[in-house]
Amino acid sequence: MIIFISGHKFHFEIENLCRMFFPNSEIKLNYEFYDTDDDFIFTSMVSVDGRTELKSEIRVGEKSVDFSDSLCVYSDEEAEYKLALCVFKCLHSVTGYTPAWGLLTGVRPSKLMSKLIDQLGEIQARKYFTEKLLVSEQKTNLAAKVSEIQRPIVAENKRNSFSLYVSIPFCPSRCSYCSFVSHSITSSNAKKLFAPYLENLKKEIEFTGKIAAENSLRLESLYFGGGTPGILSVDETVMLTDAIKNSFDLSTCREYTFESGRADVITSDKLAALKNNGIDRVSINPQTFDNSVLEAIGRKHTAEQAISAYNLAKSKGFDSINMDLIAGLPGDTVSGFKSSVDTAIMYRPENITVHALALKRSSTLVAKENALLSQDNTATEMIDYANSSLIAAGYLPYYMYRQSRCVGNLENVGWCLPGKECIYNIYMMEEIHTVLAVGAGAVTKLKQPNGSYIERIFNFKYPYEYNSRFEELLERKKRITEFYSTYN
Ligand code: SF4
Repeated sequence: MIIFISGHKFHFEIENLCRMFFPNSEIKLNYEFYDTDDDFIFTSMVSVDGRTELKSEIRVGEKSVDFSDSLCVYSDEEAEYKLALCVFKCLHSVTGYTPAWGLLTGVRPSKLMSKLIDQLGEIQARKYFTEKLLVSEQKTNLAAKVSEIQRPIVAENKRNSFSLYVSIPFCPSRCSYCSFVSHSITSSNAKKLFAPYLENLKKEIEFTGKIAAENSLRLESLYFGGGTPGILSVDETVMLTDAIKNSFDLSTCREYTFESGRADVITSDKLAALKNNGIDRVSINPQTFDNSVLEAIGRKHTAEQAISAYNLAKSKGFDSINMDLIAGLPGDTVSGFKSSVDTAIMYRPENITVHALALKRSSTLVAKENALLSQDNTATEMIDYANSSLIAAGYLPYYMYRQSRCVGNLENVGWCLPGKECIYNIYMMEEIHTVLAVGAGAVTKLKQPNGSYIERIFNFKYPYEYNSRFEELLERKKRITEFYSTYN
């Protein structure tokens, strides 16, 4: 699919819309129109006698259609919206497909819903979703419910609040659908990087702790994510949790999560070490309870191991456990997925996070197996079943986000038993406060206190770079203090 752009700068939005309708097509942008036999969409904006004329024309195979509109007073926001609407109508008209999230391509629907409710009230905010953005009633209700559940937690945020994220980008092996920069610890290269990585991580924790204290920041939540943090041995876990204890004031910390991740690395002594070191929330991620699907995606554990790991965590006294499930995994079926949802609900973990499969180019599935995103209704049926079953079982949707290249253009939703929301997920996804992040691939997000400005500091993505350019990375972090002296 070629997108021709003429007279406007909204290529990003137009490309995202096209991707929703043609998830498996290669999309090329071009700024000059030329005759072609390929499928194309032409988008233009021209000023005529004080008005701005917008036009979108599409040709897919034998079908072609066009829509136009105009603006009498130009504003970027209105021009982008009206042009996107023309493009959306064209795409809908030639494919017959209606995305449930309508024109909404952003990754944070509940953040937008909360902002609109604050500005317009709930009735108008819902109308904006359904009438202006063409979001379905069902998805509008979901975003509004998430916004409602989050509100009291967001209100607890203080001016100087922050959360800490610790990145462990290593895994026991690589899952075929994964596009995350994570190294399989079985490779000799990763083995060599691992010990120096942990040493540097400890130093970065200490350095970041000093900066947090210098700026009188108040720690609300802590999150060890990955990769698979559960890959750390007991000694390595204690080394890092001790570094955190010695570097940060934990007296204000309300939640401490450790993504144990895969059942093949979870042991009784590791869980005991977590419990003894203040961790009160763990994530144990089956993804599916179907062993043939687990095997097909390259996860080296069984459903039975995931259940044993869950029971073990319960027996150690963890009263906040998350289970991740993924809809749309290769080889899974609607009935298989329904059974995974039913199994997860039967164990009643405090949190169940339901993801819709996203397939990025860097995953083994796409890079080596040329997998395509399914365009039938399978994933939608799966997600609809998960949503209705979780509601019926008393779970509440407490955070959500969307990803590009996601099956069915669906969403990822974190569900919780009442009062068991993961506050880190809310603060991070809704961009409520600063997240100081340590480790390779981690991104520190500085949030202006009482404002909306956000600035990012990127750590090096790969562990080898993180190790070899470590001093440079610490230099970058000095920006945190400059930021707070400017915006406080
Ligand atoms: S465990 Fe998670 S991060 Fe690691 S390879 Fe699998 S999906 Fe990726």
